[in-house]
Parts: sequence; C-alpha cells; structure tokens
Amino acid sequence: MELLRIENLCKIYGKGENRVTALDRVSLTIEKGEFTAIIGSSGSGKSTLLHMVGGVDVPTGGKVYLDGQDVYAQNNEKLAVFRRRQVGLIYQFHNLIPTLNVVENITLPILMDKRKVNEERLNDLLDLLGLKERRTHLPNQLSGGQQQRVAIGRALMNAPAVMLADEPTGSLDSHNGQEIIRLLKESNQKYGQTLLLVTHDENIALQADRIITIADGKVVRDERQVAQP
Ligand code: ADP
Ligand code: MG
Repeated sequence: MELLRIENLCKIYGKGENRVTALDRVSLTIEKGEFTAIIGSSGSGKSTLLHMVGGVDVPTGGKVYLDGQDVYAQNNEKLAVFRRRQVGLIYQFHNLIPTLNVVENITLPILMDKRKVNEERLNDLLDLLGLKERRTHLPNQLSGGQQQRVAIGRALMNAPAVMLADEPTGSLDSHNGQEIIRLLKESNQKYGQTLLLVTHDENIALQADRIITIADGKVVRDERQVAQP
C-alpha cells in the first residue's frame, strides 16, 4: 500500500544572489512499512526533503500526500496536529528536555496533544529501547546512546505514520550507532513502522529495503535491495 506520494516537489531558499534550489522537482512514492535510506553529499537536499515530508517547512512547489492526505492543503492548525500525530522526527542531536525524566520526555508529545498515554505501548517501548530501568533518569544521567533511544521512544510513542530520521547516528560512536539502527529496524519490523532515514554511512544504508540517492536537489538513483538475512 502506498503511504507517501511526493510529486514535483520544489524548495527554493532565499532570493537574488542567495537563491538556492534545495529540491528540484522530486517525485517518488513510499510503500507502507518500507525502510528507505536517503544518501547524498552534504548540501544535496536530504534534510530539506525530510522537512517537506514532515510538514516542518512549506515547499515552494509540488505536492506531498501522506495516507492520501494533501499535507500542505491543511490550514496551520491542522498541519500542527498532523506534525504531532503523523510524523516522528529524530535528529542527530536529540533535543530532549533536560528537566524531564525519560518517561516524561517520551510522553510529552501525547500530553501536549491532550491525549491519554497508552501505558502498554509505553512499557513496550521502554522494553524495546532497553530503558526500563531508567524510567525516572534525567537526560544528563544517561549516555549519548541512551539519550538517542529516548528520542526514538518519543518519536515512536505516537505510532506515527512515518518516522523521519536525519542522521540519527551522526553524533554516536559506531557501536551505539549500530544499536540505534538495530532499534529503528526492529520498530520497522515489529510495528511495521515506515522509516525514512538520512545517513552518510554506507553500511547503514545497505541495511535498508531501498536506497535513494539525492544530488543537487534531484533523485539521481533509486534502488531496491535484496532482502537482508
Ligand atoms: P543536506 O541535508 O543534504 O546536507 P540540506 O537539505 O540541509 O542538505 O540543504 C540543501 C541546500 O539548501 C544547501 O545548499 C543549503 O545550504 C540550503 N539550505 C538549507 N536550509 C536552508 C535555509 N533555511 N535557508 C537557506 N538555505 C538553506
Ligand atoms: Mg542534512
């Protein structure tokens, strides 16, 4: 089933001499449950693409449909709800709230959305992320890898339609980085979580179902990989 459809997506930043075409007529579709890696050199438009998919920033042209919904046809209020409920974002730096403990950080988006926390899902996630014994720890009492796992928990708590990860292992050593990838893959396999992951690391990209290469704001390669054992 098609989950995401991007049509002729364009993003231009700045004006005059500062004008940058970050995305140049990108079209692609993503199936539900697919794990896609996005690669490309620095400045090629990878983060911009994730932001356009996540409703973070408005495209200059083109369309994004998630689950049949025209993302940018929504008013600002609906777009904010869309961002909270349908999209899980993970960045290189996790942006946890330092004064909130692990459980509070993970459940914050749900509470902000005035919804009830699903305790079963929370416990499931804490288990999956190896954070069961760290429920009341503050971010500064956790290792970098653990902090990034909390950020993953926060993004997954909502059961978002799509998980967008922008170089989530960029600030971690290779062991912790691989652990984060393992967890993202597990969420992909266990929950059928659709995952779009930007990475510099070829070994990580090779673990995806599909690799999309971006250069100068365009898709220049799009390859499906044979299933990994
Ligand atoms: P990547 O994530 O592949 O490194 P980005 O999507 O961040 O690339 O950036 C693509 C291009 O758009 C770059 O040339 C970058 O300088 C430019 N760009 C990104 N964000 C902005 C912004 N907010 N204002 C102006 N230019 C931007
Ligand atoms: Mg980037």
